[in-house]
Amino acid sequence: MPSRLLSYLTLPAFVLLIAGCGGGGGSAAPAGDSSAPAAEPARVYNWRMVTTWPENLPGMGVAPEKLSDMVTKMSAGRLNIKVYGAGRIVPAFGVFEAVSQGTVEMGHGAAYYWKGKVPAAQFFTAVPFGLTAQEMNGWLHHGGGMELWRELYAKYNLVPIAGGNTGVQMAGWFNREVNSLDDLKGLKMRIPGLGGEVFDKAGGTAVNLPGGEIFTSLQTGVIDATEWVGPYNDLVFGLHQVAKYYYYPGWQEPGPTLEVIVNKEQYDSLPPDLQEILTAAARTINEDLLAEYTARNNAALQELTGEHGVELRRLPDDVLAALHEISLEVTAEIAETDPLAKRIHDSFLAYKRGVMSYQEISERAYINARATSAPR
Ligand code: CA
Repeated sequence: MPSRLLSYLTLPAFVLLIAGCGGGGGSAAPAGDSSAPAAEPARVYNWRMVTTWPENLPGMGVAPEKLSDMVTKMSAGRLNIKVYGAGRIVPAFGVFEAVSQGTVEMGHGAAYYWKGKVPAAQFFTAVPFGLTAQEMNGWLHHGGGMELWRELYAKYNLVPIAGGNTGVQMAGWFNREVNSLDDLKGLKMRIPGLGGEVFDKAGGTAVNLPGGEIFTSLQTGVIDATEWVGPYNDLVFGLHQVAKYYYYPGWQEPGPTLEVIVNKEQYDSLPPDLQEILTAAARTINEDLLAEYTARNNAALQELTGEHGVELRRLPDDVLAALHEISLEVTAEIAETDPLAKRIHDSFLAYKRGVMSYQEISERAYINARATSAPR
């Protein structure tokens, strides 16, 4: 295991469980002294947030800490959130259940991890050949997406807030070249969400593993290939040590949204100003993570290819076309699971059609013009 990864995976869980005993469970205590005798002492909320990430993983693993710092400062210490990485209180894939049941007040992760329980949740992380980060933010915050997400999670006693985006990811790490769809057949690959279902239909076997288990699984042959995020995070995991080819583009996750989830009773127990502070802080990390990945990915890619000999490869057009076709089938199947899933699917696709049309003459036209008109 690479040393950079080891450093944040090994602290025994019990140390943090003990540390968390003091103020968890939504307990309240008077804060400070008030010189005004008639004033009610401000209630202090000490909350716990569990995540699906290895603690302190650059980017998404640090974002919950940033959120916590912001909330403490913005609330003048009235809302304090202690962050626990994957495995500290619950395993990575226990986050949804722990927050839903009120074991802890909050979580940070990605909605597609819960597809076994809530298939339509996958629309709120990533749809293969779906929306980019910019487009996802538009759908969620100005296109009706957030309202549908809240409706979907209400029955699980959860309030969702968008909490980060990595931008377009990489297609992943392989030890064989992918020259045709046949090269995917028989491969066991870590690829979560709808991308995994597409991969299954393409003849592979998709495995859903949390980030912290990827390196060892690939090293020991439990999986043959993996996707994780992109150069900035993949370099830290040391995936170049166990795979030769690094493929792009990330058709499976073109702009995945991460989620902050809050136990609904706990959220409702907050006064309106603390609810607003929490939402604003989550919205800030939602934007900040995208900025961080955008700024850091290229340097990490240069290190991977320049210093570590990674071979960068583009998936062939016919492979992408076949995966795109399967993606449309898989996405349509989710719509048939229940009426709310259909409304989410229909909203997503209607928005996608509109935004794609305008992107042709805006982002895409500009990026093409910038590339093709560059002075030689
Ligand atoms: Ca990914």
